[in-house]
Amino acid sequence: MEDSKPKSLNFLEEIVQENLAAGQYPQGIFTRFPPEPNGYLHIGHAKSICLNFGLAQKFGGKTNLRFDDTNPMTEETEYVESIKKDVSWLGFTWANELYASNYFEQLYEFALELIKKSLAYVDDSSAEEIAAQKGTPTSAGTESPFRNRSVDENIALFQDMRAGKYPDGAKVLRAKIDMAHSNMHMRDPLMYRIRHVAHHRTGNAWCIYPMYDFAHGQSDSMEGITHSICTLEFDVHRPLYDWFIDKLAIFASHQYEFARLNLSHTVMSKRKLLQLVNEKIVHGWDDPRMPTISGLRRRGFTAASIRNFCDRIGVAKRDNLIDLSLLEFCIREDLNKSADRVMAVLDPVKLVITNYPDGQVEDLAIENNPEDLDSGKRIVPFSKELYIEREDFMVDPPKKFFRLGPGLLVRLKGAYIIQCDHFELNPDGSVKEIHAQYLPNSKSGQDTSGIHVKGTIHWVSIPHAVEAEVRLFDRLLIVEDASELGDDFLKFINPDSLQVLDKVYVEPSLREAEIGEAVQFIRKGYYCLDPDSTAERLVFNRTVTLKDTWAKEQNK
Ligand code: ATP
Ligand code: MG
Repeated sequence: MEDSKPKSLNFLEEIVQENLAAGQYPQGIFTRFPPEPNGYLHIGHAKSICLNFGLAQKFGGKTNLRFDDTNPMTEETEYVESIKKDVSWLGFTWANELYASNYFEQLYEFALELIKKSLAYVDDSSAEEIAAQKGTPTSAGTESPFRNRSVDENIALFQDMRAGKYPDGAKVLRAKIDMAHSNMHMRDPLMYRIRHVAHHRTGNAWCIYPMYDFAHGQSDSMEGITHSICTLEFDVHRPLYDWFIDKLAIFASHQYEFARLNLSHTVMSKRKLLQLVNEKIVHGWDDPRMPTISGLRRRGFTAASIRNFCDRIGVAKRDNLIDLSLLEFCIREDLNKSADRVMAVLDPVKLVITNYPDGQVEDLAIENNPEDLDSGKRIVPFSKELYIEREDFMVDPPKKFFRLGPGLLVRLKGAYIIQCDHFELNPDGSVKEIHAQYLPNSKSGQDTSGIHVKGTIHWVSIPHAVEAEVRLFDRLLIVEDASELGDDFLKFINPDSLQVLDKVYVEPSLREAEIGEAVQFIRKGYYCLDPDSTAERLVFNRTVTLKDTWAKEQNK
């Protein structure tokens, strides 16, 4: 699915191109990625990262990483560290690492400036009173009784707010705009609130904190951000963004909005992801079922596959829902090129090759990746007793079963053709052991048997097998679109999102695998070694199946 024709520009690229053609921004464009450090980044943030960094890369600009840390209640240094790790891992380098909290003093000065211009006032109204004053979208609001305080009184009160003279909620600073404005965000919005809470960076230096709307645009402006890109729900904030910049007469950053990424069968807001973690529905932010960057990484997704996904979905102006299978398609495509093929038996049953010499071991050289001719070969030991996949044998096979059954012939991958001549059952009717004869002249690569078999199955030599645990993951939610569910999403958790296979046998070469390394278990899917692995016990995560079985299930 490689695109050979040049891709047309997305609407943001068109805007930048026009700006540059008109001679604006001769120093180059400047974008920023502004996460609030109140959780781990998710795939939606990856979209924003790729977009912001991608625009700057494409048009010769720069991108800042700015932590939007104006809410001390929910922010933590642990999140700052994880965000930096994730952005780097995705392959991007920021021009500057910045914090909105760096600007607290300057923002305070800006607020004083607006007070002096009679464009801001201290309001003693309670949160409920302020909400009631707001009016409705169809009716004008009412002015606060504190709206017409003098400039001097406002300055004194605001200084006292900063000095900690008032408890939380006693006063706020509001912009003085228009209580009848058709845009509710312009009806004297809050600029500052009192919070006697320690901040993860400024400690107890401040007890008043700026609101998002007062911090974001001014931070953009101070950094010289030319294109401030955010998601659609902020379009109603844009007039306020422009109003502050205009009244303060500072560098005119501009805000542009695009549709946020919504992914099927999962939730994406950090608040909901935190709920999954806190309620122990998943085993942490990096649980491989999570749509977080750290979860996807642990699951075995590569940075390239995520960037590719973000590129493919494009930049939309309307909200839409992207199917998780597109993300899976992207990782499959990447790993198909890069992952070595190995053999692992997930549901083992014993196979004895009765005419193979006792105690003999052959070191078979099997190619690592037929898609990558430089990947070489590895040694896989073959012996008389093997594990094969239980589903590869049927006592009473239907006609087109090109695997093993009484009398049937099949090739063992990289080894010999065998024919089944006997099997034994357990008391419960399941197959206990399968016996077969091999054709000594049918060895892969030097086959002179003249026999053609349709099926090839994978196997692991029992005396050489390494026992492992395999974790299979499925959709986190059983509903496709969780965007309208609110907190009800917890009722739609897929009870089978994690399945653990604790007696899997893998070929011995996997003892050398490194944490995070991706492999293809042939005929089974792409897997990677989980950090829970120890020298005694390997743990593999299934990244993705070889084919899109989900779509098939749905069509049944
Ligand atoms: P959440 O609701 O998941 O907590 P957020 O928007 O509050 O997300 P921020 O840390 O404020 O998270 O977001 C940082 C940047 O990432 C913002 O510019 C935001 O617009 C963008 N972003 C967040 N979620 C998405 C998404 N699903 N798709 C695209 N961009 C997103
Ligand atoms: Mg946010």
